Amino acid sequence: MNTTAARRRIVAGNWKMHGSRAETQALLDALLAPAQIDERVTCIVFPPFVYLSDAARTLRGQPIHLGAQDVCAEAPGAYTGEVAAPMLRDVGCDYVLVGHSERRALYGEDDALVARKFAAAQANKLLPILCVGETLAERDADQTYAVVGRQLDAVIAVSGVAALAQAVVAYEPVWAIGTGRTATPQQAQDVHAFIRGRVAALDAKIAAGLRILYGGSVKAGNARELFTQPDVDGGLIGGASLKADEFLAIWSAALADRRAH
Ligand code: PEP
Repeated sequence: MNTTAARRRIVAGNWKMHGSRAETQALLDALLAPAQIDERVTCIVFPPFVYLSDAARTLRGQPIHLGAQDVCAEAPGAYTGEVAAPMLRDVGCDYVLVGHSERRALYGEDDALVARKFAAAQANKLLPILCVGETLAERDADQTYAVVGRQLDAVIAVSGVAALAQAVVAYEPVWAIGTGRTATPQQAQDVHAFIRGRVAALDAKIAAGLRILYGGSVKAGNARELFTQPDVDGGLIGGASLKADEFLAIWSAALADRRAH
């Protein structure tokens, strides 16, 4: 059975802590130029928190979806500096990143916290994109599958495998993020197949429908080869998503029919 054809691909742009209000608007305007993006491949952008409301206004009725880069695991309350899931829904977000490697490495987010963020997102009808991936030291020590499996299992332990029907997984090897060093298509495929297999061991149907994105120095020049791997369902793009032409080219690469390759 060809299970890949049924999964609509996703190309997502993580804008990280970049851009001004004017630059955010200019980037959105460029992406919304006529006949560029449509729903054949789901497009999501993740601007900084403070620009989400403006972005939501610009994107209303447009084929680009809005997401936040992080979410607090707690319900609204006395958590200075945090942003709760209902607030993200309130300003028009449909998606949220959880467990991005920069959150894990720079802000000490562990698997348990990421699992709670994932659950908080879903409880508020946000679709979480769960980021998983190993460091270079972990890969060199042959720990890639152990690390990625552990990160995935932590979420399944809290939310159950059925929760993955309303979620996306992004495999982002830490050594490939922002480094210009991309995983080879085969390296990406191997880990994506491992993730799908691990979910399939619990629920084959959910595994077959699960979108698994690759992230880590994806560019217009390498996107197509990555996206044609059978278990790669699109990309989570950092640096290259800040340049409209480059991001649009990556989105177009995701349109290609993987059965043609
Ligand atoms: C990311 O931030 O999730 C990412 C993949 O970044 P880059 O594309 O710049 O490696």
